[in-house]
Amino acid sequence: MNFDGDEFLPYGLGRPNLVEAQPGYFVDSEVTLFLDKLTQSAKVCGFELRIESAYRPFEKQLSIWNRKARGELPLLDDKGNVMVRPQDEEELMYAILTWSALPGASRHHLGTDIDVVDAAACPEGYEVELTPAECTGMFAKFHEFLTSRFEAGEAFGFDRVFVPGRGKIRPEGWHIAHLPTSRKRLQNFSLETLRRIYEQSDMACKKVVLARLDSLAEEYIYPYFV
Ligand SMILES: [Zn+2]
Repeated sequence: MNFDGDEFLPYGLGRPNLVEAQPGYFVDSEVTLFLDKLTQSAKVCGFELRIESAYRPFEKQLSIWNRKARGELPLLDDKGNVMVRPQDEEELMYAILTWSALPGASRHHLGTDIDVVDAAACPEGYEVELTPAECTGMFAKFHEFLTSRFEAGEAFGFDRVFVPGRGKIRPEGWHIAHLPTSRKRLQNFSLETLRRIYEQSDMACKKVVLARLDSLAEEYIYPYFV
């Protein structure tokens, strides 16, 4: 695959300008200053903003997608329980989409979005799962803090994206985005380019994804261009 130019950045391809914000987690260089400010303002209130996921390239998302499709990673139903892998390719595609973004259309490709928890509230040895239960449980205070900052417009450009009532992706309270930067990155996003990328990728369920791409975009991609 040769998708190396800057025009392929919104799809997790090309060579984005990344900075290591926390050990092993990279973000767009334009975001770091604002992330530092948000981290500081959380710290003042007793929270330790820790990143659990940040930039993710296309190949990584493709690997998650393909492993789920091939049964190498567990497939979860909408309640988070392990489910039997559907034989029908379209059913399988929608099952994967319950918890995983389409490769090339994950907001984690942008370098502007991160999944966050409060390390100060994390019990020792606890493995973070990023679930709604954590948001209303051990990280509830942290999320109340974030919500109040977002609502007051005092979050240095960050906000939640996967909120109830928007598109078909399940709400993800832990996923925050630096919107002024992500808007810039998404300006040149085109479904036709994504289609070309898929056509040249070794992607599971490719046929049905390509056949349904327009409606998938309406439900899983465009509602989150905010
Ligand atoms: Zn996320």
